[in-house]
Amino acid sequence: MSDPHGRHLIPSMDVLLKHPVMGDLIQQYGRIRAVDAVRQELGAIRIDWNPDEPVCNEDQIIAASQARLDFVSRPSIRQVFNLTGTVIHTNLGRAIMPECAAAAVVSAMTCATNLEFEIDAGDRGERDRHVEDLLKRLTGAEAAIVVNNNAAAVYLVLNTLANRREVQVSRGELVEIGGSFRIPDIIQRAGARLIEVGTTNRTHLADYEQAISSRTAVLMKVHTSNYVIKGFTAEVNEAQLATLAHKHGLPVVNDLGSGTLINLESFGLPHETTPREALAAGCDLVTFSGDKLLGGPQAGLIVGSRALIERIRRNPMKRALRVDKMTLAALEAVLRLYETPERLKAELPVLRFLTRSLEDIKTQAQRVLLAVRAAVGDSLEVNVIDVQSQIGSGSLPIDLLPSHAIAIGCLNKHDGALAASIARAFRALPIPVVGRVKSGCFIMDLRCLEDEERFNAQLGGLQLEHQA
Ligand SMILES: *Cc1c(COP(=O)(O)O)cnc(C)c1O
Repeated sequence: MSDPHGRHLIPSMDVLLKHPVMGDLIQQYGRIRAVDAVRQELGAIRIDWNPDEPVCNEDQIIAASQARLDFVSRPSIRQVFNLTGTVIHTNLGRAIMPECAAAAVVSAMTCATNLEFEIDAGDRGERDRHVEDLLKRLTGAEAAIVVNNNAAAVYLVLNTLANRREVQVSRGELVEIGGSFRIPDIIQRAGARLIEVGTTNRTHLADYEQAISSRTAVLMKVHTSNYVIKGFTAEVNEAQLATLAHKHGLPVVNDLGSGTLINLESFGLPHETTPREALAAGCDLVTFSGDKLLGGPQAGLIVGSRALIERIRRNPMKRALRVDKMTLAALEAVLRLYETPERLKAELPVLRFLTRSLEDIKTQAQRVLLAVRAAVGDSLEVNVIDVQSQIGSGSLPIDLLPSHAIAIGCLNKHDGALAASIARAFRALPIPVVGRVKSGCFIMDLRCLEDEERFNAQLGGLQLEHQA
């Protein structure tokens, strides 16, 4: 029976299943999903049916079904362009790793390895051994172990050394890192009791000394990764704290947070305490992240005294917090790069981004400007503007790096809704572009744009929702 609105013109399932492309779809996605996609497409056509514009072309329906399948089969973790201006962006996966790390991971993934096997002796081995010597050389530590991330490192250190005992931390260092990592909470979960010493702005050596008792297990320093206390301030440095602690037979633990293995000043960047410096100043254990300034995989590194590291290694929680072979493979490759510092600036992406010259970014901005203008059209202003990039992830919180960005919007209109819609359009590109919205503009900081060709190439598909 024919539909008075012409729906009988829609091809039948049987006809569509005989379409030449259908075989490929079944091959790629399996029969159940391929047939289901066609069925869904037919359902959508019936619902949206417009007798004046009937959709009954078989090729079109099959192509739309294929688009449906492609869309739902996209991997959930996808590449994006990080043009936020924050180089180490936690939400965008923190450090981008060098090729050598990727190659090491692929090999560790796809082959059996000597992860916990001593090849010479033919015996059982220890997984952290693959990076321990490197970490010892790079930090001057006696020993090192690796866990899942720095939060785990802090937890494991305190759980080992201070369970049912007390940990002293300055009130100025009770840090909260984004995403619910708070030093007081970690101390509590590690089974230790936090003893706050000093005040928010000033903590003196005497404050620590007066708080020491038979219950004290650790004097702890925490790097104030994401804030600074300015004005009338005083803090106790590592060396002073270590002298006091050692007089009382106590260890000093220093959570450095980002922890870089090199002197950043030699790359024209602001100084950040290195694990080597903290250990040389007398700290007994130092913890830091693998995927912040170090530029490697997510990991928590614990370096320092051999005796203390041995105790940590024996904590049963080490097993629960240990790292996977892929992490170790990537970490080893990245640490090896540090053994040849001359190569770091070119080969370690985090350092490459942080040290990019302003001229280089500016020249790139001029090129990208033309491509963006062509894609956006005349109705919106597109300009190169001066911006400040951030290092990110709580690294060097107040030190900003001058950079250049492409700004799209109406500079004199401050239209927040328009800027948000431009941001949405850029996020809808095949490789989503993540920038930021500020003062009615959509802003793309070019510091981290390396694959300019692919960035420009996809601009042709930009679909702005409403033009100004
Ligand atoms: C980032 C940071 C942490 C947490 O490190 P993750 O590797 O993200 O677990 C802990 N302490 C400080 C001081 C930090 O900066």
